Amino acid sequence: RIAYVNGRYVAHADAFVHIEDRGYQFADGVYEVCEVARGFIVDMPRHLGRLNRSLTELSIDWPVTRGVLPIIMREVVRRNHVTDGLVYLQVTRGVASRDFVFPAGTKPSLVVTARKADPAAAEKRAESGIKVITVLENRWDRVDIKSVGLLPNVLAKQKAKEAGAQEAWFVDADGTVKEGGSSNAWIITRDGVLVTRPAEHGILRGITRTTLFEVAAKLGLKIEERGFSVAEAKAAREVFISSATTIAMPIVAIDGAPVANGHPGSITLSLRHAFFDVAEKSPA
Ligand code: PMP
Repeated sequence: RIAYVNGRYVAHADAFVHIEDRGYQFADGVYEVCEVARGFIVDMPRHLGRLNRSLTELSIDWPVTRGVLPIIMREVVRRNHVTDGLVYLQVTRGVASRDFVFPAGTKPSLVVTARKADPAAAEKRAESGIKVITVLENRWDRVDIKSVGLLPNVLAKQKAKEAGAQEAWFVDADGTVKEGGSSNAWIITRDGVLVTRPAEHGILRGITRTTLFEVAAKLGLKIEERGFSVAEAKAAREVFISSATTIAMPIVAIDGAPVANGHPGSITLSLRHAFFDVAEKSPA
């Protein structure tokens, strides 16, 4: 495997950043994950748009121009022979002697990796659906920034795994669902209306979430952007999560209680299957 690190394509096993990189010391960095499907990078312009927002919110400069980054991403995908999988990129504020305040004149670090995934395994997962648990929201209030500070997400998803589930939902004290550890949360009401909470604050504005709005429109489905509770989700017709790597993934159990008949919902699967036609596909 090959990784891109600060201007060089190097063997993955020899790909290092400095111990005083601020990503390592302060989680002072941001990232993006794009799905690679059938030789295309999915929704790359939207991911780069969100990267720009994350960088701007943290006053981190672009490590390379916005025009050059897609070329590097493509090159990493190509050198790793990925036709289905993902491309990961991370930008940190760079290497500086450890001090909390922003260092002056530091060059941001850029790392890009890519890895293969098995599309058949993902389809199988979608056919059986996955399980979520709920955990109390314990993250900071700027989760709209796609920062590499993911320790609460790590702990929540580990807890999910130990409970035999594949995702954890962060839930406010009043029972309102925020989002998953690495996904946005959706329900479909008895009337067939898609519901997902607004992304102005409190959650990450998922790129897959945004594209699913277009998929839903194409399928003639109605979307309500509003909060919903765990109780409402447990009583919903269908429940699913969205992220770049899972697309629309059916949820069949919440905290051990089955959703509807305990099988993936048909509307979720139709969204999943229409997704690739609607998403923007950049040749890798
Ligand atoms: N919320 C969180 C916390 C995430 O980590 C992710 C995945 N990066 C998402 C939502 C979904 O975003 P996207 O559709 O852009 O992958």
